[in-house]
Amino acid sequence: MTALNDGWFTEVFQDQGTAFSLQVKKKLHEEQTEFQKLEIWETETFGNLMVLDGCVMLTTRDNFLYHEMMTHPALFTHKDPKKVVIVGGGDCGTLKEVLKHPGVEEAWQVEIDERVTRLSEQYFPELCESNADPRANFFFGDGIQWIRDAVPGSLDVIIIDSTDPVGPAEGLFALDFYRDCMIALRDGGVIVQQSESPLLHTNTIIKTIHDDMKKAGFDHVRTLPFPQPVYPTGWWSCTMAGKEKPVVYFREEDADQRPFVTRYYNADIHRGALAMPQFMVDALEDE
Ligand code: SAM
Repeated sequence: MTALNDGWFTEVFQDQGTAFSLQVKKKLHEEQTEFQKLEIWETETFGNLMVLDGCVMLTTRDNFLYHEMMTHPALFTHKDPKKVVIVGGGDCGTLKEVLKHPGVEEAWQVEIDERVTRLSEQYFPELCESNADPRANFFFGDGIQWIRDAVPGSLDVIIIDSTDPVGPAEGLFALDFYRDCMIALRDGGVIVQQSESPLLHTNTIIKTIHDDMKKAGFDHVRTLPFPQPVYPTGWWSCTMAGKEKPVVYFREEDADQRPFVTRYYNADIHRGALAMPQFMVDALEDE
């Protein structure tokens, strides 16, 4: 639910009794796409803001936290990622981070709603600056079907950069989907999924992701928390799992000497994010 009062955009989390507000200058765009209501706002201090079905998706100012953590831990956990698929991620921010890795030969962004990408090109051009990279490929359609149709054993990393588990994204948080991911990955492959707020969802969504990924055959599952000021509770997470690959180890030296610029991610941040808070260990770790 959203509200607009005296120049403030507010996302209300009724069930938690909280709300998050950004001071806005003006609405830059609004449309009902085939899949969702899409709004773009200009804020006073966070740059542009994208909202889908009333939920804050990203702002210019802080999206780097999310996009870097959705990408670099998984890519530095894989020993040599060459083919990477992003399911969702229509704003192109994750794609941009993936393409920073010189070893990646082919990256796919599989986004159900082409309008998200077209409006990102217009209002978040800095996230789309690698879209013309010859390694970048775009498919506009359902990611669940795309993964089901993928050649078995053809992918190194699958990044599930989706909306919350409702509507078209619901099936991206499901056992059948993880089974299809398992089939599509090569041995040593890595899957990573945005997994909502540690504070709100550890015993529900995150626990179910762990259980279902394990049922799908992933031996090692780990949730990495990170800050994300514009999402509910300001604290978010991604959950990573490996196909015959422990995800608590990563190429630390490569991460340390990465040949590209990051603003949040580094090897220390990666190591720190692997240390789960005690309440998450208690809820999730029988591993
Ligand atoms: N950072 C955001 C968050 O965690 O709230 C997610 C950003 S990205 C904009 C999420 C994208 O997932 C949306 O553009 C949405 O259209 C897309 N999406 C949802 N379900 C999908 C599906 N089944 N296949 C492909 N893309 C999907």
